[in-house]
Amino acid sequence: MKICLRKYEILQTGKEDTLEIQYLGTAAAEGWPALFCNCEICKRARAVGGKELRTRTQAVVDQKILIDFPPDSYTHALNYSLQLGKVQHLLITHSHMDHFFPVELIHRHEHFGHHAEGMLHIYGNEAVEKAFYDAVLIDRFKVHPLDEAVRFVRLVPFADFTADGYHIVPVPADHDRRETCYIYVIEKDGKNILYGHDTGLNLSAEAWECIFKRKYALISLDATMGRKHSEGYHMGLPDVLTFVKTLQEHGCIGQDTVKVINHFSHNGEMTHEELEAFAEEHGLTAAYDGMKVQM
Ligand SMILES: [Zn+2]
Ligand SMILES: [Zn+2]
Ligand SMILES: [Zn+2]
Repeated sequence: MKICLRKYEILQTGKEDTLEIQYLGTAAAEGWPALFCNCEICKRARAVGGKELRTRTQAVVDQKILIDFPPDSYTHALNYSLQLGKVQHLLITHSHMDHFFPVELIHRHEHFGHHAEGMLHIYGNEAVEKAFYDAVLIDRFKVHPLDEAVRFVRLVPFADFTADGYHIVPVPADHDRRETCYIYVIEKDGKNILYGHDTGLNLSAEAWECIFKRKYALISLDATMGRKHSEGYHMGLPDVLTFVKTLQEHGCIGQDTVKVINHFSHNGEMTHEELEAFAEEHGLTAAYDGMKVQM
């Protein structure tokens, strides 16, 4: 029997650490290795294990602000000893299933999960709202109404809000045009995170303007397409470099900024080892499941 230990390291930037992000899952929708896939990247991932295995994309800031809710949320809670019953704010980027798997939210009802603290606020767009109610309002769950445990908050582009002392700005992404997908600016004590999953480079002028207003302690960029260039919707590494250069030109990032690439697909045709080598060469950090960054 082979057991892969999912150890994580903490990357420290050397400054006084007041803000932490943990990457709980770092794969695109199909997972890594992909559920039904026998390509070389997936076969190698199964053989090697460790950082070459990825669950679907989710992150948590200071264990308080959860970002996205994939089908792997339960696994993440087990692997990283998360106290999800304490989390009261959940930012959803968009309704794709690797970012929002709402049926699991029924388990915040007192019948299934005892003594969860306060209300879980879910922030998202119109498609996320519909998916949420479609999942939790079915007949079978009517005996367990979520009104006392979960509250949905519909977001408006650029309409900032405060959650537990974190200042949050939802910025429209370049992703599925059938809904208003969001990337997020999250600020605490003057430190900004730009959480950019899922998005391509074709942001609106208004979105760029909003992003350019700040200097970032950490940026987290979509690298789904790996070595390939993307025309939009997602990014590959060539597009990530363009994104980084654009932020540099506008004074939004400096020497201290942690530049993370994340949300990987086997279709990007690079192993984690290769992504790490690329990242090192370009001053980036390739995310892996469990990675924590303190800034
Ligand atoms: Zn995704
Ligand atoms: Zn594959
Ligand atoms: Zn997506």
